[in-house]
Amino acid sequence: MAEYDLTPVNVPKVKTRFRTIRTAIPVPASLPIFEELRRSEPRSMAGQPPIIWHKADNFTVHDKWGNRWIDWSSGVLITNAGHGRKEIAAAVKKLADRPLLATYVFVHEDRATLARMLREISPDANNYQVFLLSTGSEATENCIKLAKTYALQQYGPHKKYLVSFHNAFHGRTMGAQLAAGNERPKAWMVDRDRTFVQVPFPDGYKNKDTSFELFLHSLTEQGIKPGDIAGVMSEAYQGVGPDFLPVEYARELATFCRKHDIVLIMDEVQSGFGRTGKMFCFEHYGIQPDLIACGKGITSSLPLSAVIGRKEIMGLYAPGSMTSTHSASPLAVAAAINNLKIIKEERLVERAARLGKIFCPELQRIQQKHALALGCFQGKGLVAGIQVVKPGTREPDPAMAQKINVACFQKGLLMFAPVGVAGECLKVCPPLTISEPALRESLAVFEEAVNEVLGC
Ligand code: PMP
Repeated sequence: MAEYDLTPVNVPKVKTRFRTIRTAIPVPASLPIFEELRRSEPRSMAGQPPIIWHKADNFTVHDKWGNRWIDWSSGVLITNAGHGRKEIAAAVKKLADRPLLATYVFVHEDRATLARMLREISPDANNYQVFLLSTGSEATENCIKLAKTYALQQYGPHKKYLVSFHNAFHGRTMGAQLAAGNERPKAWMVDRDRTFVQVPFPDGYKNKDTSFELFLHSLTEQGIKPGDIAGVMSEAYQGVGPDFLPVEYARELATFCRKHDIVLIMDEVQSGFGRTGKMFCFEHYGIQPDLIACGKGITSSLPLSAVIGRKEIMGLYAPGSMTSTHSASPLAVAAAINNLKIIKEERLVERAARLGKIFCPELQRIQQKHALALGCFQGKGLVAGIQVVKPGTREPDPAMAQKINVACFQKGLLMFAPVGVAGECLKVCPPLTISEPALRESLAVFEEAVNEVLGC
């Protein structure tokens, strides 16, 4: 990921109902803040467009110099119910005023409420339980541990493999990185735990073969028998795309896991809570994972994550031996409860599906208009991605992706930095609460930026 240029540019002024750009970008007065951060922080933290967030409400983000962007990032797919929801802020404030700020694993009443609410959106409320944590990485780590523990206890040490997919992302802690689908993030480990193996992901673009045969073939090639696999973990859609599993493939995978008593883990950290037009993305496939890792959109705000899983697997650890200091932190739990209420009452899952019918075809039209440089479109609901490539090839063009991203930023449309294996994917994901006029305006801005950068 390239760093963004901090030289202010005198961009055309913008003033619409939803966007304002009234200064040079980046704002000259903001530069000392970036300079301080470059002194104080590792450069790994300097990868996003140079805006200083001051206030964020619903689907717009403001700086303190009077600029305002339509948000196509949702943070990083956090704010499904919109930024700065009053109901969430009020619940957090109420607890802070009571006060009740931390409880460790001692019980507070809201924990029971949230655990029930999450159980009720699981595949089977009577057979699933909920374990609350703080980050998505903790949730995926915990899924890995539970799958391996289950296999060890039921079958012995030979059933030890954790299968994940090429190009997968499950977080930045050690277990999550062992399950990552690229070599670069785990190169630092040098000697690896060889029980973590990867197979090709059937995205249909980077890998043309979408048959389940390839999964079996790849395992055979790596010398792994089905009976030796503890768990299979996949993002419900891969973040690099978003790349979805073909429905048939997902069903064959679920059948395979059931047949060999392999724990099937769906990482919904990014895809859950309505983003794709279903509460969970795996619902598109008609499968029932054994464990579901959740995060991000679970609160639309404060850090909280969860593992929702089959009772039998969730119950493997004795009291006190599967916990975390900030499990069920009261403020984050209050945020999650109110977030889930909003998602339900405002029918945001259905809304994402409905707005997706405007968002996705429009983005696809723009991609097809520039098909030489915009290699591929993928999307569902209110998440989509466009791969930027060297004209007429499939070779990623991260520099061009960044140019489009910056052009949007200068016009008052905010995206996070391009993602993907090489940083070539323009990934877009507005809050599910975005209004239709704002959605249409932002699509027009995106097209204008793409036209300017690529030439009409
Ligand atoms: N899994 C997926 C699919 C993710 O997208 C992410 C975060 N981008 C994580 C896990 C890790 O979550 P966190 O950053 O909260 O640890």
